[in-house]
Amino acid sequence: MSTKRDYYEVLGVSKGASTDEIKKAYRKVAMQYHPDRNPGDKAAEEKFKEAAEAYEVLSDADKKAQYDRYGHAGMGNSGRGGFGGGSGNMDDIFSQFGDIFGDDIFGSFFGGGQRGGGGRGQRARGVKGSNLRVKLKLNYEEIAKGVTKQIKVKKYVPCTTCSGSGAKDKGSVQTCSTCGGSGQVRKVSNTFLGQMQTVTTCPTCNGEGTTITAKCGSCKGEGRVYGEETVSIDIPAGVQEGMQLSVNGKGNAGERGGSNGDLIILIEEEAHKELHRDGLNVVFELHVSFTDLVFGTQVEVPTIDGRAKIKIPAGTQSGKIFRLKGKGFPAINSYEKGDQLIYVSVWTPQQVSSDEKAMLEKLAKSENFQPKPDKSEKSFFDKVREMFS
Ligand SMILES: [Zn+2]
Ligand SMILES: [Zn+2]
Repeated sequence: MSTKRDYYEVLGVSKGASTDEIKKAYRKVAMQYHPDRNPGDKAAEEKFKEAAEAYEVLSDADKKAQYDRYGHAGMGNSGRGGFGGGSGNMDDIFSQFGDIFGDDIFGSFFGGGQRGGGGRGQRARGVKGSNLRVKLKLNYEEIAKGVTKQIKVKKYVPCTTCSGSGAKDKGSVQTCSTCGGSGQVRKVSNTFLGQMQTVTTCPTCNGEGTTITAKCGSCKGEGRVYGEETVSIDIPAGVQEGMQLSVNGKGNAGERGGSNGDLIILIEEEAHKELHRDGLNVVFELHVSFTDLVFGTQVEVPTIDGRAKIKIPAGTQSGKIFRLKGKGFPAINSYEKGDQLIYVSVWTPQQVSSDEKAMLEKLAKSENFQPKPDKSEKSFFDKVREMFS
């Protein structure tokens, strides 16, 4: 071990100092070099540790006697197991302070201040209720127009017997005697760092300011019971699968008058028999016979708002996409609207009679039946791109 300063010198006391004088001297040095007063100062930290080590030895009669006789050499490996050699651990030093000045003082000074947390400033009423999640399935029509839904929600509701107080009657609610109703307790401590005041949530009433002497029989003092409530929810037009809507204060009731949690609605889309949603657009696949495409026809197609008639011109190619402007879904936060896209698909007969077969074989050789794609027609790939744009 390198040269160590004399422990008496470290604390600034004479060899004949009494236990009390040693303690006083240590407080003074520890206060001066305390890391809270010297943030980031390494030299101060070393002095602080050095003082703690000196005090640890000089405050113990046996160790002091050893030291008085043999000096540092008499201290074995080091003065102490914990932070000998100056590499010490601050926690050890603080726990040593606890021995000297009482645990609660240091507890409240070095961390207890944050413990009060919730109750700072004002007193809390009850315990806030938790949020509730429910799934809500909507069909395309409801999503397109928006809808008001009445849903039954199983949840905690305020106890009607005690109006949520949890008390048997008015007389069984008493002002908390520990905190006098403020919900907070103040503690003034005299420490070697001076007077310190800490404010924490009252442990008797948990910050509520009142205590209950007799509990309500219906809710067993909780102020709420498990029940059911029908909640009316306005769903705006344009919601989508997976969206969440939060309804303020419609979740679980709090305990003893605490505020309610929120009700969170998770949107699910009910699949449509014929239509398919693609963002704001609606896609419909129209199966048409070959002859209808040759001669042209009028067909009725489903939309998210009733049915619509569309005209298929003579000579329409398979794969053609018709667009019904503005017949898609509305955007939830703008006036934008999607379209309905109608994809024309030729229906190929799955079986044919011998007569039909003979006719088709005759047509197959006809000049008009040989493919002659028009260069001005949009390619298949252009159409796909357009469809998903
Ligand atoms: Zn009750
Ligand atoms: Zn209290």
